[in-house]
Amino acid sequence: MNKSILAFFAHPDDAEILCAGTLSLLQKAGYNIHIATIAAGDKGTASHSREEIIRIRRTEAIKAAGIIGGSFHCLELEDVFIFYQRESIEKASVLVRNIQPEIVFTHSPDDYMVDHEMTSKILQTACFTAGMKNLLIPEKPFGPVPYLYYTDAVESKDKLGRRIDLSIWVDISSAIDTKEKMLAAHASQRDWLMAHHKVDEYLMAMKSVARSRGEESGFKYAEGFRQHLGHGFPQENILLEILGKETVKSINQIK
Ligand SMILES: [Zn+2]
Repeated sequence: MNKSILAFFAHPDDAEILCAGTLSLLQKAGYNIHIATIAAGDKGTASHSREEIIRIRRTEAIKAAGIIGGSFHCLELEDVFIFYQRESIEKASVLVRNIQPEIVFTHSPDDYMVDHEMTSKILQTACFTAGMKNLLIPEKPFGPVPYLYYTDAVESKDKLGRRIDLSIWVDISSAIDTKEKMLAAHASQRDWLMAHHKVDEYLMAMKSVARSRGEESGFKYAEGFRQHLGHGFPQENILLEILGKETVKSINQIK
């Protein structure tokens, strides 16, 4: 049975912006890819009703995940109302236990939006509690705790404008076209930004971040990560073990 990766973010399109290149490389390395969101993306529109935009964005997210043979899951909570509380932690834990991922990707603990920061905390707990027998959900506990990686923040900066100091860079030059296709599947968001900026800001911004993270790591295009290394979590950099040192650089090779 193939092992699984779970990219679990706040909204549809976050996974594609932040780590689709790496997901594509992991899929090629033999992993099943699951993309999940806590919220349905119901505020991501200037024209549709909630029901319409939820339906549109679900279709887009399924299409994007399908490009790398992956599946899409949504906890169906509401945008801007993602809280660190029982309902979201239990729902996230159910999905983590159903998938039993070896690796989980989620948002940077510091980001521009509270939804992203809450999702980061919720996933930290949903990974940590994977093996806890007395968490009151019917899904069976499993171990070991998954490897947890935080992606870059949106625009690579925290809410005070400080650039995120990464510790791991993945060369996504061979996957940039796939990442672009996956992001372009989110047509409702791309068109919305295009109408506002009069240029294809959605894809341009993604490529500009990938180029900038590439420049600092010696790759053409890169995605950046930090690994959760707190008590109870696995400590090795499994991305390096899977993808190899030609593709993955860590902080001690950069500075
Ligand atoms: Zn988001």
